[in-house]
Amino acid sequence: MHPETLAIHAGRSTDPTTGAVAPPIHLSTTFLRLSDGSFPADFNYIRHNNPNRQSLETCLAALEHGAEAAAFASGMAATSAVLQALPHGSHVVAPLDGYTGTLSLLRDHAPRWGLSVTFVDMTKLDEIDHALKPATALVWIETPSNPELRLTDIQAVAERAHAVGAILACDNTWATPLGQQPFTLGADIVMHSTTKYLGGHSDVQGGALIAHDAQSEFWHTIRHLQHIGGAVPSPFDCWLILRGIQTLPYRMRGHVANAQQVAAFLAEHPAVERVHYPGLASHPQFELAQRQMLTSGGMVSFQVRGDADLARRVASSTKIWTQATSLGGVESLIEHRASVEGGQTRTPENLLRLSVGLEHPDDLLADLAQALG
Ligand SMILES: *Cc1c(COP(=O)(O)O)cnc(C)c1O
Repeated sequence: MHPETLAIHAGRSTDPTTGAVAPPIHLSTTFLRLSDGSFPADFNYIRHNNPNRQSLETCLAALEHGAEAAAFASGMAATSAVLQALPHGSHVVAPLDGYTGTLSLLRDHAPRWGLSVTFVDMTKLDEIDHALKPATALVWIETPSNPELRLTDIQAVAERAHAVGAILACDNTWATPLGQQPFTLGADIVMHSTTKYLGGHSDVQGGALIAHDAQSEFWHTIRHLQHIGGAVPSPFDCWLILRGIQTLPYRMRGHVANAQQVAAFLAEHPAVERVHYPGLASHPQFELAQRQMLTSGGMVSFQVRGDADLARRVASSTKIWTQATSLGGVESLIEHRASVEGGQTRTPENLLRLSVGLEHPDDLLADLAQALG
């Protein structure tokens, strides 16, 4: 089936007891046990599994063409589970640029858990070759990266990771399953912050891991950590995310079309120094974007001709674009990224990050024009 159909039907069915077309929310924390010790629908306790989480996980696995998915309470809880599943003493190769929470987890906490981390420029394959060693158990990538939209060649990194016996995990939050399919390029684990495009309405937090091979020991450990660690989403959160996913393929069309227009507009604007968007031919990895991505996505960042102060004034002057962090909702957001990331940031001080929403593109462009003016 095509993604539009999977997004609406995978993991869902009409409720057999009531005929309800929209799924009910099952709040029950516990489930009936029969005299022979079995459970009628294999559910026994809410943290272990529940009907709404199972529906969501089925849909996520189908959309990513993976074997199984595990839903978490946030994107960071999903990322934490990957690191917690590694054997003590493991080496991790991770990007120099990426989601600030992921980098903090790897830099500030992973060493205490007995993990060593080498940070590399993932756009340079020779740096990755140099960093990989026999103890490398995980290569973590995020492509396009936050906030400068650098790309990682998933297939080339997968080959290198597998050559030393390491797992390749790919944060696919920005591209979404509609924009990029890491499993077809060799990734072993796909991670999502479902708080973003999958939820899609800036009203629910969640995360997910999807496995290419559900039989691996690593995946069994992650599943066990999901149940025992307990960083799981509530049934209502699962219901909201699954509801959001139904319109994901059509929302992404609007996000991508609007982002392409915004990027082209900014690239021509005299007050703009540089635009970062994989859909522009001026992107340094445009050829890789064409080869690896199915769409260019809905995220754009740009650098103003000026300093942090000017960038912050632009972000405070928009009327339709809301100055706020996060991304992937229907409403357009603008933020000064370096001040959100804080002290250890590598983000240029004149950079503004845009989550291009689903308003009419003419209104979005007019608002950017008056703010830059
Ligand atoms: C938001 C985000 C995360 C973290 O997800 P939360 O749901 O906020 O915990 C991880 N990676 C990327 C690329 C993100 O945008």
